[in-house]
Amino acid sequence: MNGVETARILDGKATALAVREEVAEGVRQLCAAGHPAPGLTVVLVGEDPASQVYVRNKDRAATQAGFNVSTVRLPAETSQGDLEAEIQRLNGDESVHGILVQLPLPKGLDADRALARLDPAKDVDGLTPTNVAALVTGNSGHVPCTPAGCIELLDRHGIELEGRRVTIVGRSMLVGKPFAQLALARNATVTLCHSRTRDLAAECRRADVVVAAVGVEKLIKGDWIQPGATVLDVGINRGADGKLVGDVDFEAAAAVAGAITPVPGGVGPMTIAMLLKNTLDAARTTVGAGGSTGDGSR
Ligand code: NAD
Repeated sequence: MNGVETARILDGKATALAVREEVAEGVRQLCAAGHPAPGLTVVLVGEDPASQVYVRNKDRAATQAGFNVSTVRLPAETSQGDLEAEIQRLNGDESVHGILVQLPLPKGLDADRALARLDPAKDVDGLTPTNVAALVTGNSGHVPCTPAGCIELLDRHGIELEGRRVTIVGRSMLVGKPFAQLALARNATVTLCHSRTRDLAAECRRADVVVAAVGVEKLIKGDWIQPGATVLDVGINRGADGKLVGDVDFEAAAAVAGAITPVPGGVGPMTIAMLLKNTLDAARTTVGAGGSTGDGSR
């Protein structure tokens, strides 16, 4: 590690702020036209400490953007039936435009079954089967917030994917798989790696763009990065000193990459910004105001 940064830092904090300001302006316009403010309800089951923090941050950001925000807190011992009944109730509540079921759910609850209950129009996390299918087929629907945030970050920094080799490490439904679809829709050549990939270093070395979404501290080494490549680090890990670290060895990678996201302050803030954007779009669609905040993620 030589610690000399040459890469352009993709500042997710500043970019997210710009998106959030645009969303807040969209909310003002919606309200000025006599429509209600977008309503976002987060369903939080149990006491997972990380989830409590995420929900608090989402609540704050949505309130700042002028949303009508609420959190439904359910005890960890909530039954599957009661959770699904709550989701159905929110589906039918006209003041709620976006519903987010905070994951992970406590043991014993089936997240897939719960998510399948969500009205796809209100599924602002883009995880229902209908929205997943829309993403794969190229139809319009809500796109999961983290991969949508990655694309927004690239777009706003003028980094194109067309014809480029994109290697994604991690194949979750939340990040890796939807990002692969978004990159394909941008005409990238996509390689999707995972825990059984044979030579991860070689797969990364060929890439013009590396996306790391694994959850293993500094898994991606500096010498796995092609000079000038773009590196998006989605990982959030708690380092030995208690600080947040990504899946990429940042200093070593920043010495060779063309552009890179830091952790924290990279992809993380974009996720919340895209949640707000999806919810504003849902509210606009409900009132027939159409238009989007400029979704560049298709
Ligand atoms: P996940 O656990 O669902 O999936 C991890 C993926 O990594 C799996 O597909 C697995 O095959 C792969 N993997 C595991 N070990 C590997 C290895 N040694 N080599 C190659 N692949 C390996 O995780 P997730 O929900 O996609 O989250 C990934 C990371 O991103 C986590 O650190 C999470 O905290 C973070 N995350 C951040 C945001 C954000 O807003 N920045 C949002 C979601 C997730």
